[in-house]
Amino acid sequence: MSIDQAERGTQPTLRRELFIGGSWRPSADGSTTGLTDPTTEKAFGAAAVASPTDVDAAVRAARTAFDEGPWPRLTIVERAEYLRRFADALADDIEPIAQLVMRETGLPRADSLGGTKAMITVLRYYADLADTVTLEERRVGRTGVSTLIEKRPVGVVAQIVPWNSPIVMAAFNLPAALLAGCTVVLKPSELTPLSAGYLADAAVRIGLPAGVLNVVTGPPASSEALVRHPAVNKVAFTGSTTTGRLIAEAAAPGLKHVSLELGGKAAALVLDDAPLARIVDTMVPAMMFNNGQMCLQPSRLLVPRHRQQEITDALAARFAEVVVGAPWDPDTEVGPLISRGQHDKVMGLLASAVDEGGRFVVGGGRPKDLDTGYFVEPTIITDVGPRSRVATEEIFAPVLVVIAYDDEEEAIAIVNDTEFGLNDAVYSADPDRALAMARRMDSGSVNINNGQYLDVAVPFGGVKQSGYGVELGPEGLEAYFHHRVIYLDAEPFHGLG
Ligand code: NAD
Repeated sequence: MSIDQAERGTQPTLRRELFIGGSWRPSADGSTTGLTDPTTEKAFGAAAVASPTDVDAAVRAARTAFDEGPWPRLTIVERAEYLRRFADALADDIEPIAQLVMRETGLPRADSLGGTKAMITVLRYYADLADTVTLEERRVGRTGVSTLIEKRPVGVVAQIVPWNSPIVMAAFNLPAALLAGCTVVLKPSELTPLSAGYLADAAVRIGLPAGVLNVVTGPPASSEALVRHPAVNKVAFTGSTTTGRLIAEAAAPGLKHVSLELGGKAAALVLDDAPLARIVDTMVPAMMFNNGQMCLQPSRLLVPRHRQQEITDALAARFAEVVVGAPWDPDTEVGPLISRGQHDKVMGLLASAVDEGGRFVVGGGRPKDLDTGYFVEPTIITDVGPRSRVATEEIFAPVLVVIAYDDEEEAIAIVNDTEFGLNDAVYSADPDRALAMARRMDSGSVNINNGQYLDVAVPFGGVKQSGYGVELGPEGLEAYFHHRVIYLDAEPFHGLG
């Protein structure tokens, strides 16, 4: 450990232990797991593997901090001040975090920097929101009874996040949970366990009370122990739909609050009057963002049959120009997929498209000049049906499926014929037509003349198999409260008044 790290209470960033009760410690049985850089396929760094004993220690630390510590007893404005300092501390580390995220995830530099920027944005947003939040209301009921209605933090939160943008995924819940007065055990993905260590480092530097934030790393078994722990009050999960179902089952016996932000298969519906330039200018970045590994990604493009050639050709020309390469190369727009497993899965889906009669307009495999790293060419598939595997399963790569339609009723039926409901899009030159169509889309968000969008002040969440619960905006903070009602002067009870 360098002197600088020791002074700042941080650890060497390529080997992380568990952050429990305000300090770093190895796992109880000393086990660690090695990591693979998705760009070079070389080993780098290692993270502790939390055993059930470690998970129990982390939850107990969070429980004690909640039941006995100062955190929930501070005013919300005092907690907001910690959030501001948290944001400032992360801003100091933005460059080393980006360097690490590039190695953990293969995300290009801009996306790797963007993760910490997003966390800083969310921390500052919730800090500012604190001034507008009312935690106590005196309300006179219909019968004239005087009541005090209090918003109380839900308690100990288990936050489990995926790998596709590790710091951003933490940002969708951590600031709101902390502002509400909750304490948190954060479990990053086993594929990207190191970058969350910077959150713990920042917590140490700003003097966040011990146990308010704990970080445990490890495989699914570690998060299962976390979800099942009786002292956890809420589980905030972001990840795949398959895992989301398991999480909901594991949380059910304890009747825990659960929020699930799960997979997606968004459609972008192009109406016949939509301007071509706008489609290309927005769909290309939406497909390439985060190396194509984005739950909101509009990976099904529905086009009027008479415009299929024009739109597909224009998009293919731009897809062919996308620079695929190492994340640290300044020209790179798309890096590798996260892992060999994910690469194999995507290659299998591309093969399935061919089996189902599909054709690659551009891409379709590994880039010719990149024989190392989990790279996939930006790809456009046509000539597959709306129920083909590539049109129904989440691919999580820069792979777009173009489906031609003959009339709008058929098109909207295809948009909604999916188990997912996270995001959709509609393109039209006529705002009224676009809005009317947007209102018919069964998903948590719809973009007009754009592929995807997120704003910290606006609620985010899915429907159907994309999950339930809400994040960001004032609604995301409300999700971390429950209500306690105190009847101050009620008469003897004779039924609902
Ligand atoms: P995943 O479900 O495999 O893993 C997510 C987290 O859950 C990891 O920390 C993992 O260790 C843990 N986990 C895995 N199995 C578990 C189990 N049985 N019990 C408890 N915990 C378990 O997801 P992933 O592959 O890391 O991430 C990609 C998925 O996440 C995609 O489906 C994507 O759409 C989704 N995602 C959704 C959103 C959203 O906001 N809706 C955002 C980003 C990613």
